[in-house]
This record gives sequence, C-alpha cells and structure tokens, in this order.
Amino acid sequence: MTEGDGRVTDLTPGAAVASATAALRPKLRGWLHAGVFPLVLAGGIVLICLAPTTGTALACAVFAVASWLLFGVSGIYHTGNWSPKWKAVLRRFDHTNIFLIIAGTYTPVSVTLLDRSEAHLLLALAWTGALLGIGFRMFWLTAPRWVYVPCYIALGWAALFFLPEFLHTGGVAVMVLIIVGGLLYSLGALIYGLKKPDFSPRWFGFHELFHALTIAAFSCHYIAVAISVMDVRRR
Ligand SMILES: [Zn+2]
Repeated sequence: MTEGDGRVTDLTPGAAVASATAALRPKLRGWLHAGVFPLVLAGGIVLICLAPTTGTALACAVFAVASWLLFGVSGIYHTGNWSPKWKAVLRRFDHTNIFLIIAGTYTPVSVTLLDRSEAHLLLALAWTGALLGIGFRMFWLTAPRWVYVPCYIALGWAALFFLPEFLHTGGVAVMVLIIVGGLLYSLGALIYGLKKPDFSPRWFGFHELFHALTIAAFSCHYIAVAISVMDVRRR
C-alpha cells in the first residue's frame, strides 16, 4: 500500500503493532533512564568503595543494586519494542523496582543516621512494606494507578517519623536533601497518577517528566547518602 507521500508501508501484523506502539510513544521515552544508567553504575561503585566500614559498604551495595535495577530495567523496558509477553515481564520488574529503591534508599540512611534499635525498626518496616508491595504488583499487574501509587507514597513518607533523628545525626543539609528527594519522587508519582501535565506527547510527555523527576530525586538522596556515609568515620 502506498501512503500520500509515496512511501510503501509494511502491513504485516507484527510491523503494524510495532509501528503503532512506536507512534504512540514519545520519542524520548526511556532514554533519560538509559542515559543516566552509566552514571548511576559508576556512582554506586564509588559509594561502595569509599564506605568506611563493612556495614556501611553493605548498606551502600543494597542502595547501589536497587538503583542499577531501577534505571537499568527502566531504560531497557521503555526504549525497546518488546513482544507482549516480554513487555509484561519487564513491566512487572519496572514497577516492583520502585519498592526496591524505596527500601534500598532507607537501608544506608538507617544504617548511617539512626541508632541500632531505630535502624532495625525502620529497616524492618521498609523491607516488609517493600516485599508486600512487590508481591502485590507481581500478582496484580493491572491494578489501577490509584491503588498502587499511594502504596509507594505511604512507604516513602514513613521516613517522616525519623526526620528529627536525620537532622540530629546527619545535619541540616542531609535532612533537607532527604525531604527534597522525597518531594520530587512524590511529585513524579502524582504526575504519573494524573497523566498530566503532558507537555509534548510526541517528544516529552507526562511519563518522561516523571522519569526526569525520579533522576532529580535519586540525585538528592544519593548526595544525602554519600555525605552520611563519609561522616560515619568522623562520628
Ligand atoms: Zn516509566
């Protein structure tokens, strides 16, 4: 078949589905996360190597692996043209990685900023919440956004109860970075939930804005973790 501009179109069903999906998707979908992945990879390695104790190095490794999975899988999932079967598998991982990054961020924050009993409490809370959330997203992939987005928000904002400790041990800069990171993630979740603002559906839609905000939020938390980890030796 010939289109108006004289090009011949491939009309096999597979090509039709692939081109329809590609046409619907903003051109930058996935490229932000794929683009920052090398930085996130390097940043994680630097953090693990500079951690002053075995405990902090392990906590940084948990944080690093969660960030590699988050940005790596998202980059692969959002940039590729996957068959419906692979798409469902990658989508599951993409969504469960959000719970992993929440608990993964709590891990070095708890280990470096809280006393032992408080750290155990927050880690138990964060990882139980994350594992429940992962189970929920694995088995109910088609759950509506208003069901699962509040789960991310609730688990993330459980940190509020520990803010006085973060301030006391980490100082103002660390506490502000943790709060700003949380606000940026939450703003992203809100935009993802509402599907707006959708600035440029062709190039940079609401989903890309959400991805950009996750990068900004992660950067804040990465700096907070780096400061806290380096400070452990001083304390
Ligand atoms: Zn996404």
